[in-house]
Amino acid sequence: MSDSQIPFDKFTRNSPVVFFTGAGISAESGLATFRDPHGHWSKYDPMKLASADGFRQDPELVLEWYAARRKQAAAAKPNAGHRAITKFQKLFPNSAVITQNVDGLHARAGNDPVWELHGNIHRQKCFSCGSAADSGRDVSLRMNYCDCGGLLRPDVVWFGESLPLEVLNHAFDATSRCEIFFSIGTSTQIYPAAQLPYEAQNRGAFVIEINPETTPFSSQADLSLRAKSGIALSKMYEEFHAALL
Ligand SMILES: [Zn+2]
Repeated sequence: MSDSQIPFDKFTRNSPVVFFTGAGISAESGLATFRDPHGHWSKYDPMKLASADGFRQDPELVLEWYAARRKQAAAAKPNAGHRAITKFQKLFPNSAVITQNVDGLHARAGNDPVWELHGNIHRQKCFSCGSAADSGRDVSLRMNYCDCGGLLRPDVVWFGESLPLEVLNHAFDATSRCEIFFSIGTSTQIYPAAQLPYEAQNRGAFVIEINPETTPFSSQADLSLRAKSGIALSKMYEEFHAALL
């Protein structure tokens, strides 16, 4: 990584910045990814565990699987990548996190705001009427019901479902306004989220990709680093800090 690759003189502390993250940053906290060769979907059928049809057919199986994943997410800790974003957000107060992860690690690291495109595994909503479940409800109980009688399900986006519109609007708004866009640990293959780095670049943002693997976006990024976020973001924070403070 060379400092000269980033046009620091184009930016100020008022520059709007977006941190867009995917499963890679959670993997650095020890959480399994989905589409990788060793990820969840190499072992489990996503149509049984992460679709409305699957839930209708066997809600107990789905809830049991999510209870186990919730436990893993709760046991995981935010890593150096999440913490670097917290520091970056102090340097750039006009910044936002857009994530495809449902584990809540960004918020636990103090990142704010965090737009969760695929929901949050620690929340539940009604399968029938869609109402958010009372956050005080004991989610350790597998079968819970809404006041309307509907079964509660995890508040995550399943296969075949649309992303929450309000969150998506915030994400596209922040992306279209930003001057620096970080694409971190995301394969940029799942739409519409995968559109965000392209959208940022089309609007003139400087787009920095951080991913141990090459992605379809890598050749187009203004700067593409083959690295884990915990290492690359921490180092880059020091560079931005030195250049802007
Ligand atoms: Zn309901």
